[in-house]
Amino acid sequence: MAGLINEEDLATVRERTRIEDVVGSYVTLRRTGGGSLTGLCPFHDEKTPSFHVTPARGFWHCFGCGEGGDAINFIQKINHVSFAEAIEFLADRVGVQLRYTDGGGQRVEPGLRLRVLEANQLAAEFFAGQLLGGSGLPGRQFLDGRGFGKDAAEQFGIGFAPTGGRELGQHLKAKGFSDEELVKAGLVRENGWDFFQGRVLWPIRDAGRSVLGFGARKIFDDDRMPAKYLNTPETIVYKKSTVLYGLDLARANIAKKNQAVVVEGYTDVMACHLAGVDTAVASCGTAFGDDHARLLQRLLGTGDVTGGEVIFTFDGDAAGQAAALKVFKGDQNFLAQTYVAVEPTGLDPCDLRIQHGEAALRELVGRRVPLYRFVMRNVLAGYDLDRVDGRLAALRGAAPLVSSIRDASLVSGYLRELAQLLGMDPEEVRREVKVTVQRQSRTTQRHPEPPPGDALPGLPEPRPGLPVPDPRDRRLEAERGTLRLIVRAPETFDAAWNGIGVDDFTHPAYRALFASVLAAGEGPGSWTQRILNANSDPVLEQLVISLAVEPVLRVPTEGYAREYSAQLRVQSLSRSIAELKSKLQRTNPLDDQPAYNRMFASLVNLEKQRKELLALATGPAV
Ligand SMILES: [Zn+2]
Repeated sequence: MAGLINEEDLATVRERTRIEDVVGSYVTLRRTGGGSLTGLCPFHDEKTPSFHVTPARGFWHCFGCGEGGDAINFIQKINHVSFAEAIEFLADRVGVQLRYTDGGGQRVEPGLRLRVLEANQLAAEFFAGQLLGGSGLPGRQFLDGRGFGKDAAEQFGIGFAPTGGRELGQHLKAKGFSDEELVKAGLVRENGWDFFQGRVLWPIRDAGRSVLGFGARKIFDDDRMPAKYLNTPETIVYKKSTVLYGLDLARANIAKKNQAVVVEGYTDVMACHLAGVDTAVASCGTAFGDDHARLLQRLLGTGDVTGGEVIFTFDGDAAGQAAALKVFKGDQNFLAQTYVAVEPTGLDPCDLRIQHGEAALRELVGRRVPLYRFVMRNVLAGYDLDRVDGRLAALRGAAPLVSSIRDASLVSGYLRELAQLLGMDPEEVRREVKVTVQRQSRTTQRHPEPPPGDALPGLPEPRPGLPVPDPRDRRLEAERGTLRLIVRAPETFDAAWNGIGVDDFTHPAYRALFASVLAAGEGPGSWTQRILNANSDPVLEQLVISLAVEPVLRVPTEGYAREYSAQLRVQSLSRSIAELKSKLQRTNPLDDQPAYNRMFASLVNLEKQRKELLALATGPAV
């Protein structure tokens, strides 16, 4: 049987891992009473913290979305990695060298994630050395031209990829990395050439300073790659929708100042940090998206009354306005905290620093206005506000903007401001917006958020329908474990599900899930989809997802499935036996001898079945 990761090592990793540190790298946590910590849940959108971490017990739990678990499954969920990869990640953090037991080929790539991070780190060092060396002159000239000297280059770890096209690959292979590992790291192409050639490089790190990948700028006219900027392709560690350049430098300042500044390029991030705007970050090779927004929001902390500020720097031009509108239409949970800093001259932060100095950059950030005001003014700018009909048209143009704001607590302030900008009566403005809302609600289904204060933070919301089973309930472990295997590895069961019946399950949600398993036929869609097609209760949906991601330490096999099924049926038989015994005790054999004898025969039969099953059920490990 495959043990995979050595059990002792696993135990050491669990012992040494401090859940508050692990979660704290992703979510800003604040102390509450009773020794627990709280922050904004990374797994659902929320404005008031219902995400709790209990260091003493090593658990996290979100009362908003019901997710919860230990440090390992937190890493699994947030990094979208397997159980084994999460262990490797944590082992690296706490300094445990994992040993693997011979596992029959289950883990094809032990430790790939760590190998990729190691290769990236060595590559960053190699590139940084190249920038300072003889071949790095063009890179240094490029940086000089943007106002960055040797100190800045070192501070930000900037590098230079040599033009030969093989140097990095050779360097890393000499350090023991295989071709395959280097391809998977995105450092070398399938054809053996270095991924980056003749470019200036910025190492892109996570909040924990691990190098995830690189951003690279073209500096030679004869560059074979057409794009001005080139980024590491998606790898096991580099996901462009969630990486932010500068996060390693800005992370602590973002939490401290309750502010983040979003700029567009690598040199803009550098310029900001050098000017003292040390909360600056930039998305890499992709537009700033909802995932980035959520990442920053979590780092900003609790989203309480004082809020936090996310400041976007945009050009004052049409493209900048369009970008602002896009942010506005994106994640609205963000709206009250979103600001825009527009540079009227159209200079980006890097050029602004060169032409007007570092103070000008700090002033730019100081001039921020709320995003909604910026967007509103842009809409109104298209109308002639000196005329009565122009003002009315402008009002009708801006009304959808106000009515699209889902947070009722923000709307009245925006209405007042719109009235002021138009020089109109606030009541008139309110009426017109209301008409627009009514028009909209006739055409679209709206799901308004409950007003704040309706639900007490920290208390689970009552759910209709099926009760949610507690995954840690030891008495239900056989039921959950069997279902986990059924969801994950149905092929390890026989056609009759090893003789399991609906009545073998005691918890209503588990009963309902097994009934759906029985009802799920062949057909299109994945196995889990077909189970959910049979019963689409939201509790079941959540349950199936949990079961699909919960760790299984052993590779599912038919033997393993038989053990679980047997254990489940032993428990079920034991309940029937106890019932029957109690009934026998209450029955006087003299009253109805044949009935008594039948019951006694059933009891003997059940005992016999249980004995047979006990031989199979040796008590599977979790
Ligand atoms: Zn949640």
